[in-house]
Amino acid sequence: MSAVSVLDGCTVVTMDSEQHEYAVGHVVIDGGRIRSVAPGPYVPTGDDVDIVDGTGCVLTPGLVNTHHHLYQWATRGYAVDATLFEWLTALYPVWGNINERVVGQAASAGIGHLALSGCTTVMDHHYVFPRGGGDVLGAEIEAAGDIGVRFFATRGSMDLGRSDGGLPPDHVVESIDEILHASAAAIDLHHDASADSMVRVGVAPCSPFSVTTDLLREAATLARDRGVRLHTHLAETLDEDDFCRERFGQAPIDYMESIGWLGPDVWFAHGIHFDDKAIRTLARTGTGVAHCPSSNARLGAGVCRTRDLLDAGAPIGLGVDGAASNEATSLLEEARHALLFARALGGPTALGVRQALEAATIGGARLLGWEDEIGSIEPGKQADVCLWRMDTLAHAGIADPVAGLVLGTPPPLELALVAGRPVVRGGHLTRADEAALAAGAVEASRQVRAPVLAG
Ligand code: ZN
Repeated sequence: MSAVSVLDGCTVVTMDSEQHEYAVGHVVIDGGRIRSVAPGPYVPTGDDVDIVDGTGCVLTPGLVNTHHHLYQWATRGYAVDATLFEWLTALYPVWGNINERVVGQAASAGIGHLALSGCTTVMDHHYVFPRGGGDVLGAEIEAAGDIGVRFFATRGSMDLGRSDGGLPPDHVVESIDEILHASAAAIDLHHDASADSMVRVGVAPCSPFSVTTDLLREAATLARDRGVRLHTHLAETLDEDDFCRERFGQAPIDYMESIGWLGPDVWFAHGIHFDDKAIRTLARTGTGVAHCPSSNARLGAGVCRTRDLLDAGAPIGLGVDGAASNEATSLLEEARHALLFARALGGPTALGVRQALEAATIGGARLLGWEDEIGSIEPGKQADVCLWRMDTLAHAGIADPVAGLVLGTPPPLELALVAGRPVVRGGHLTRADEAALAAGAVEASRQVRAPVLAG
């Protein structure tokens, strides 16, 4: 096989800064990077190249997920009609049963499913580390490597147990020293800041109601010392707002600002209950929001003010969130839901189809600090690319293929490349056996459920 390949004859949607699109175009990939992007069919130069016929397809950047909890693949379908706090209270005991094997199986299935929906960069926020559970973070990173996606792992944490006024039960929390030591070790072992990196690591205490102020401060110091990013859940529910006002005398955003948790190296999951002042604060500090519309709707938490965030200039990406609060976990579906919810809330101009796709690609890359390498189709960038079939019954004949992607049902994924290497081809994973991943998910789900049922 030649080192140079050409995706030819497809519609090309670049998501570059000028949003170039070519009704018929081609992309040349060389050594895992994009060499050129141009309108019209490829004109052979006599070089040895592999040509992929993209006729009937639309080519986009690979999708970038910015918030997830992969271990939850083993706990889908619980507390299906509950609020966030009820849902968490029901699930914490089940999550307390996870271990390295369970997380490896859940992550493999969850990542495989995401890859099949066009996600080439998977972020994970893992914050449950039961005693004796083994190297759960390592298990996720290994799963991502096996499937072939790019991976942004975060070492999450909880140190505010129920006996100290927090929400999680005491047996799933760790001490600050344990958390900081493990976070530093995860950065040392796995974080790769290089241009060709396949794994990066961030620091991510779970939420204001499950971690102490001391941990948030120390985590920020550690992350900034090491030059890695910070992430947590914020402004997801009114219960959280009440908790912060009662315990800290401040709204969640003011609390975070008071402890140095705003800045261009920080992004928050959800960001629903922000007032106008909070939105201006996010924009002024360059703090990002991972909008997770399906999960927010599933838990009845509310709708993120995407239009206002964009107008203010705050960075926005999309997240599927954990599969326990979004059993579908399809990033293209998040783009669709982001658009529909924004318009339901703010009228027909609240979010455009290209803005929704932008949030799912280059917007997400910005939140992860990875925008120089991924998120758009531009010469020199990593060849993380999706080729979607638009010539099947669901989309054939549609006037605007971007509308087909965002407003239509997710199209069949003909090809997904990560650093130029196929991860999905013809709608199937190239490097993993989907039946084996499903069997692993069954085993992992049984494993965590069994002790609860026995009890
Ligand atoms: Zn979450």
